[in-house]
Amino acid sequence: MNPFTYTRTADTDDAIAICSREGAMFLAGGTNMMDLMKEGVNTPSQLVDIRKLPEKQIVTRDDGSIRIGATATNSDVAYYPLIKERYQVLSEAILAGASAQLRNMATVGGNLMQRTRCPYFHEVAFACNKRQPGTGCSAYNGFNRMNAILGGSEHCIAAHPSDMCVALAALDAVVQTRSASGERSIPITDFHLLPGDTPHLETALSHGELIAAVDLPVISKNARSHYLKVRDRTSYAFALVSAAVVLEINDGVINYARVALGGVGTKPWRSYEAEQVLMGASANEETFTAAANAAMQQAQPRQFNAFKVELATATLKETLEIVASMAS
Ligand SMILES: Cc1cc2nc3c(=O)[nH]c(=O)nc-3n(C[C@H](O)[C@H](O)[C@H](O)COP(=O)(O)OP(=O)(O)OC[C@H]3O[C@@H](n4cnc5c(N)ncnc54)[C@H](O)[C@@H]3O)c2cc1C
Repeated sequence: MNPFTYTRTADTDDAIAICSREGAMFLAGGTNMMDLMKEGVNTPSQLVDIRKLPEKQIVTRDDGSIRIGATATNSDVAYYPLIKERYQVLSEAILAGASAQLRNMATVGGNLMQRTRCPYFHEVAFACNKRQPGTGCSAYNGFNRMNAILGGSEHCIAAHPSDMCVALAALDAVVQTRSASGERSIPITDFHLLPGDTPHLETALSHGELIAAVDLPVISKNARSHYLKVRDRTSYAFALVSAAVVLEINDGVINYARVALGGVGTKPWRSYEAEQVLMGASANEETFTAAANAAMQQAQPRQFNAFKVELATATLKETLEIVASMAS
């Protein structure tokens, strides 16, 4: 491991100023950072521990929306009463990830920034454009069973690993950031970047920019939601595919639909194609089949991950059926 210095501060401006230096990185729960440092993938010269910053609170605002501080733990978010009750998809997505111990350490900001689980990214002996631009993508013609079927390029097909971010995409969450140049609001769907020919650029954040909070917009009391995750083991495993669905159904007609997929995209995958089929349609099996098929229209499987197309179609259809049954 490379030598590095460690700084802890309770002052947000301080943390941003220190982290703006070359080679400095934020440290939150450390559950991803420590692994990447031990593997030699992350080599910061300075770690800025942000766990004592004030950005920890989860607050319900007067209009019913929720602001989640970036250093709130995944457990705090999953068990926050209003999130469990009304933003169920988010609570379920978080609880489907990692283990209780990890969720107690891991933070919202860290989850948004966690890196791919593509084995070629983690093993520094292999070529990887994400880790070292211009070296090639070992997964493209390699063992790509866990890799993405949506949003990839010839330079990178690494799947985004987060469960939480899939639910945030279905909830139209907004990421609030703070840096030396001011504050920004970034819709979650713009936060993670497609790999294109620059797979090493993964998010809209600039160096030294801190995720301060994540906002959940107001959701209708009549909306119902669910997160369904399919994995190799029933716990402690990343998604092969997952689906986050939010629906509002009135008199058998779908008048609000949000669909996002995990395990299949190079970023948390919002399926506008599925939503287009669902909006204004009758909530029945025919509609759900059409929506699930539409979600996979653009899929580009590689040698070992073609099974994800059928699995994602079935998973999305089942999730839609579950949410529709909750709404009726
Ligand atoms: C064994 C294991 C199993 C797991 N299983 C799952 C799973 O099934 N599903 C799932 O979704 N996740 C899973 N995870 C990933 C886990 O959710 C992440 O490791 C965790 O969310 C990262 O949060 P952290 O606070 O520990 O981040 P850290 O490790 O501290 O940091 C991660 C990155 O985020 C940056 N960062 C942190 N906070 C901020 C901020 N506020 N602003 C800007 N940058 C910031 C850091 O600089 C670093 O680059 C698993 C992890 C492990 C180790």
